[in-house]
Amino acid sequence: MLSSQPKALLKAVDGVSFTLGAGETLGLVGESGCGKSTLGRAILRLLPNIQGDVIWKNQNLITLSPNELRQKRRELQIIFQDPLASLNPRMTVGEIIAEPLRTFQPNLRNHDMKKIVQDMMAKMGLLPDQINRYPHEFSGGQCQRIGIARAMINNPELIICDEPVSALDVSIQAQIVNLLMDLQREKNLSLIFISHNLSVVRHISHRIMVLYLGKVVELTDRDRLYANPRHPYTRALISAVPLPDPNKEQKKKHTVISGELPSPLNPPSGCAFRTRCPLATDVCAQKTPPLEQIEPNHWVACHHWDESLKIAK
Ligand code: SF4
Repeated sequence: MLSSQPKALLKAVDGVSFTLGAGETLGLVGESGCGKSTLGRAILRLLPNIQGDVIWKNQNLITLSPNELRQKRRELQIIFQDPLASLNPRMTVGEIIAEPLRTFQPNLRNHDMKKIVQDMMAKMGLLPDQINRYPHEFSGGQCQRIGIARAMINNPELIICDEPVSALDVSIQAQIVNLLMDLQREKNLSLIFISHNLSVVRHISHRIMVLYLGKVVELTDRDRLYANPRHPYTRALISAVPLPDPNKEQKKKHTVISGELPSPLNPPSGCAFRTRCPLATDVCAQKTPPLEQIEPNHWVACHHWDESLKIAK
């Protein structure tokens, strides 16, 4: 039976605007379901029904023809969370890494292609003589190195890293993050680093954007965000990060976020965070707080951003 109910419109990400410099890393943080991965995929036009503009080197990616977009993909890459699942199990590592080369440099001779792939494997800390092995023969960390090698093989200028270390052991996470930072320094790569792990994001990012229910609630430099978070949601996220010193950790004031992320199909009126916010007042239910610049390079969407400081003291 067909329903006569009108379909509800779900805006997974709404009104997000930011810039990214060459050689810069922008961290995207927030709980699962806040729109981080959707935003990353929307930038690369990997999703349908995108409205807005993505200006990449003076060209709007949203209005490019499929063929023009295919050409741009050489400069724009993505690496995914689950390293093994993101690699084709029927292809050898050599074939996986070479695939983008074949697309953009179809005239490359096999011998030269193999040399480029093996050089890239060595650069990623993989053994070049394992070129004919299959993904299941590698560990999770090695599979992520293969994914990065594939993303890097055409010298991209931007890589969207979608939770690239979440599925890895902590010691391996550090290796992969350091590898990405080395590549960035060497190639002046721009990175958008998506993660719910604020320690990792702090290590790699220059600036950080905090998302809640598809909207930006805070955007500023990494050091400023951790030293002086102004949005109650950011404060709670940061307070949940354990400190390495157990004494400091014991004395730390924890801010716990109660409740669940509301459904984006039926978001709260006014401020979307108000159902979980310890500072919420009547105005929060009535008016959506705009994203305001409160000091140089620091934007916050909260009616009471100055109150959050008093509470922290
Ligand atoms: S606008 Fe109100 S509900 Fe929203 S974060 Fe600020 S104080 Fe909390």
